[in-house]
Amino acid sequence: MAPLNPLKNCKRLVIKIGSALLVDSEKHALRRDWLASLAKDIAMLRDRGTDVLIVSSGSIALGREILNLPKDAQQVSQSQAAAAVGQNALAQAYQEVMLPHNITTAQVLLTSEDGEDRRRYLNTQATLTTLLDMKVVPIINENDTVATDEIRFGDNDRLAAQVAVMAAADVLVLLSDVDGIYTANPKNDPNAEHIGLINEVTADLEAMASGAGSAGAKGGMITKLMAAKTAMRGGVKMSIGIGDIPHPISNLLNGAKTSWFVPQNDPDNARKNWITSMKPRGVITIDDGAVSALQRGSSLLAAGCAQIKGEFNRGDAVDVVDVSGQILARGLVAYDAFEALKILGVKSNNFNHHLGYSGRGAFIHRDNLVML
Ligand code: GLU
Repeated sequence: MAPLNPLKNCKRLVIKIGSALLVDSEKHALRRDWLASLAKDIAMLRDRGTDVLIVSSGSIALGREILNLPKDAQQVSQSQAAAAVGQNALAQAYQEVMLPHNITTAQVLLTSEDGEDRRRYLNTQATLTTLLDMKVVPIINENDTVATDEIRFGDNDRLAAQVAVMAAADVLVLLSDVDGIYTANPKNDPNAEHIGLINEVTADLEAMASGAGSAGAKGGMITKLMAAKTAMRGGVKMSIGIGDIPHPISNLLNGAKTSWFVPQNDPDNARKNWITSMKPRGVITIDDGAVSALQRGSSLLAAGCAQIKGEFNRGDAVDVVDVSGQILARGLVAYDAFEALKILGVKSNNFNHHLGYSGRGAFIHRDNLVML
């Protein structure tokens, strides 16, 4: 157990929910009571000022029940078809359990490429943060219809970590059927010890998790460790905790046994290091007014940009310089160079006239800008 429970002062939380928690394979139905208890937990968190995002599996399991497909129907196309059917029911179920708490949900379907391609990364990040600003709870799943890789159990562990980093969450909770990481499989080794706090995913830990009969949740402990690595690189604290009880989040908040993976960095610093390490693809010269705005912590607006150099694309890193050529900042630019040229010095409310569409506000959003 971490000295201070990271859930207590969490600003933005991603909760990952596995299929086994949502779908009762014996009763062939969604566990509505459980889901309703989770909705209550989420309402409580939001009252505490925590933004919540859900990464939920369950579309394939639910789709199979609806279509009466055998559980061992292994063809990828069948799983993808089941996902398409199940996702509808899943989204509806979330909306239904959140409604009594006056919470609006949104369905967001992503692929792992969305976190890797910088343009798509920026689009996804902008949508997620806009939803959170609007007090909506995004319910995210992998877009199984277009997923090019075979759909594997455990993919959503990785997706949840990517989402946490993209949304600049400070905490990720993987709800599971185990209460964390052990030194050996507690089911068959009486000497197995629970590890409460993990500062690094070591090779030993990985070997233990991938070993035969490891103390793994159904999705596999190794995918959880991979998720932990992504989360920690992004400055996100991650917990693996018991999910198959009512009110699983309150339970963790009240100090239930779990394993916490604690990174050295916070999300802001991790993001800054990431942006600073990128190769700049262009240079943007800004006027004195924009220099002062940046120094006050504002986003860079097109109106303050005087000149651009380079053939950058949306999502590329660019350097920001003042009129004397002094480098001030590096950031991820929201426009391709050819679009950027059309709006240099232009106020956002006139973008439509210059671009033919209303544009995206900031030229470089402050979340994606590092002062050097
Ligand atoms: N996307 C899949 C589903 O919703 C699950 C993948 C996973 O659990 O990792 O059924």
